[in-house]
Amino acid sequence: MTVKTETHEFKTEVKQLLNLIINSLYSNKEIFLRELISNASDAIDKLRFKAQTEEGILGNDTEFNIRIESDKDKNTLTVADNGIGMTCDEVLENIGTIAKSGTGAFLEAIAQINKDKTLAPELIGQFGVGFYSSFIVADKVTLLTRAAGQDKAVRWESEGDGKFTISEAEKDSRGTSITLKLKKREEGEPDFTDEWTIRDIIKQHSDFVAYPILMDVEKEEPVPDAEQLKDKDGKPIGKTTRKVVKTETLNSMKAIWSKNKKDIEDKEYEEFYRHISHDWQPPLEKLHLKLEGTTEYSALLYIPSHAPFDLFAPSFKHGVQLYCKRVFIMDDCKELMPEYLRFIKGVVDAPDLNLNISREILQQDRLVRNIRRNLVKKILDLLANMDPEKYLKFWEEFGAVLKIGAHTDPDNKDRIADLLRYKTTKSEGKWRSLKDYLAAMPEDQKDIYYITGENLSALINSPLLEQLKSKGYEVLLMTDPIDEWVTQSLTEYDGKPLKSAEKGDLDLEKADGGKKEDYEDLFKHIRTQLQDNIKEVRPSKRLTDSVACLSGDSYDMSGYMEKILKSAGQKVPENKRVLELNMAHPVMERIGAMFEEDKNNERLNEYIHLLMDLAIIGEGGKVEDPSRFSKLVGNLMTEA
Ligand code: ADP
Repeated sequence: MTVKTETHEFKTEVKQLLNLIINSLYSNKEIFLRELISNASDAIDKLRFKAQTEEGILGNDTEFNIRIESDKDKNTLTVADNGIGMTCDEVLENIGTIAKSGTGAFLEAIAQINKDKTLAPELIGQFGVGFYSSFIVADKVTLLTRAAGQDKAVRWESEGDGKFTISEAEKDSRGTSITLKLKKREEGEPDFTDEWTIRDIIKQHSDFVAYPILMDVEKEEPVPDAEQLKDKDGKPIGKTTRKVVKTETLNSMKAIWSKNKKDIEDKEYEEFYRHISHDWQPPLEKLHLKLEGTTEYSALLYIPSHAPFDLFAPSFKHGVQLYCKRVFIMDDCKELMPEYLRFIKGVVDAPDLNLNISREILQQDRLVRNIRRNLVKKILDLLANMDPEKYLKFWEEFGAVLKIGAHTDPDNKDRIADLLRYKTTKSEGKWRSLKDYLAAMPEDQKDIYYITGENLSALINSPLLEQLKSKGYEVLLMTDPIDEWVTQSLTEYDGKPLKSAEKGDLDLEKADGGKKEDYEDLFKHIRTQLQDNIKEVRPSKRLTDSVACLSGDSYDMSGYMEKILKSAGQKVPENKRVLELNMAHPVMERIGAMFEEDKNNERLNEYIHLLMDLAIIGEGGKVEDPSRFSKLVGNLMTEA
């Protein structure tokens, strides 16, 4: 029989990645082993899960394990598992492209890497580039795999040079074995075929893997008495010990979450975090819970110390794994953690759960819902009681995600509101809580004011805030798109209404704002001139220094919301705004006089358009007709 071998090219982004991996990862080379072992462990998890519903898929091969074989003479290292294996199509799909995590995010990270020239080890694995890390240490990688339930195996081979070959093959047992032809070792580098090097790496990086990692090791043992040659006096002759090969388990497999807190050292907690998160920086906080009673479960959860690069990617995986009596059920368990806590990493072990549970059923499962409610409460408590400085660190990293909860979790809205932090017109760039805001509020102030927009400095200087500032009122500056949704749900805090500085009547006393009736004819005229752009003209109670601004009625969409929706490609209903004019401003006096004199004066109409342009510029927008604008301003300057 001739076996067909096909040669394929790697996708471009894989080539780029391989180059990067090979050329920039000098330290921590040993992580390749962790990556391969973790893939092997995942493959066994997948098979176990499948076996719940597909009887017979395991056959006689039911002792799950991961095997390490090293060969000093050939300078090779093999990691083999009896997990789910891959079909030919799966190999092509999984090995040769960048997995799930998304090329976009990956390329973004490349840009970052190009900036600092090193590929941080914690990034590997986050991208789903785990397998390719083999090429840090190997000249050639051979993957031999047989999918569960299949007879034929597949061989995949590459030298990491842009191409790989794939062919049909034979394999006795189910699963995947990956053999690395190791690079020639340089002076002072670890020998990855050495038993003790391998033991050390596994202890450090893969100790919690739930399946035994086995390796055959040579041992010196005493020759049993019955086999020992002896002289006539009964004294042993020749060697009293001999070399034997023994299979040893290199990892402890201990499910740390099921141990008692007092028996766990900080170091172990950190190692476990590293194991489940692939994050090399220690977590910011941890939460270890063991609950008994009607809702029995244990959980070990972590808050990372920094946001992962793909936190906002639609493909971002939730970090909580679900176990039942130490048997892995699933990762990415969205049912246990709401969207707004998706950055939490860890495990939940619920012994009363049905092992055959599917994702669909999980959502409705009462036990799961109870655990989730419970966990959310505990995490919010933890955040509320965190050391303030540490909390700000958390907020900088994850605040924009946590905020979502203020909109989506009505049950916990108040607790989340306590956790919100905003920069304000008075906070000088620092974060402020709503509680602190209230505490510092002047007596005559009735509402909590906020303004939304893209850019912090544009917001601070917004004309819409002039009057509020002059009264000494603080304004929350909201620059996250999600804030638009938060303010829709969070309409009050501690009994005080939240009010947009941009919309509705601010209820501020302002003597010289005047009444609309006083300027009826002028405003009518302005409205006619600008009818395509605005819905109304009003004397402003918001302005003190500027002459014009744009505002909305309380039920209108804010300018920022309109911008967000438009940039997301959504159809936005026509949202005309209100032109507010500062009637105490000398410019308005002049315009009023021109209007009295001759309302058909061409110059008057030019000024009216300029007012509109000034209002737009004041909120950081773009004027409709820049050339007209600059001509008008040019004329004015010449006259002056
Ligand atoms: P990741 O593990 O982050 O998804 P990898 O590049 O390490 O990324 O692996 C890509 C894919 O290849 C995995 O998602 C998995 O589907 C498949 N794979 C890798 N190793 C194995 C293995 N030992 N057994 C079965 N499938 C594997």
